[in-house]
Amino acid sequence: MDMNEDDPIFVIQAHDTGRLHYDLRLEIDGVLKSWSVPKGPSTDPRVKRLAIPTEDHPLEYATFEGVIPESEYGAGTVQVWDTGTYRNLKEIHEARVPMSQMLGRGELLFHLDGKKLHGGFALIKIKKADNVWLMVKMRDEFATARSKPINGRSKSALTGRTLDEIREGKAPSEAKR
Ligand code: MN
Repeated sequence: MDMNEDDPIFVIQAHDTGRLHYDLRLEIDGVLKSWSVPKGPSTDPRVKRLAIPTEDHPLEYATFEGVIPESEYGAGTVQVWDTGTYRNLKEIHEARVPMSQMLGRGELLFHLDGKKLHGGFALIKIKKADNVWLMVKMRDEFATARSKPINGRSKSALTGRTLDEIREGKAPSEAKR
């Protein structure tokens, strides 16, 4: 569970476009592969969260926090809700299967080492529906049905700001950590 500088990064950005959702982005082959998760991640393995693939983003976007103007794509307020590194968990016959290959198969298994989220998650493409995936917490020591991560931990993992503070343009240093 230690963070390793060589591990690929992940970010979950809270994105309020009038409808708050959470954009999960995983570094795969030099870009941020992205899914929009309307209800955000759950730490309860019994809860399946809808995850809709969206556009790839450049790696630099992982630290973007701020207000996107009305005229631009993704207009609204963006907060780095959680960030860190991840490890690919998918092995077949003890050989690691690259994330890019599993992406094509619609089955990603990974361990998050974030500021808020930890442990294994599965991101699985539904076979019956077109381009619909589900995000589910794997059963491990970090799984819990008791806490609701997006309710209880609403401040930026990067600057400590709430979405409202980002919207109001509060400087990172003014936010209570
Ligand atoms: Mn979004």
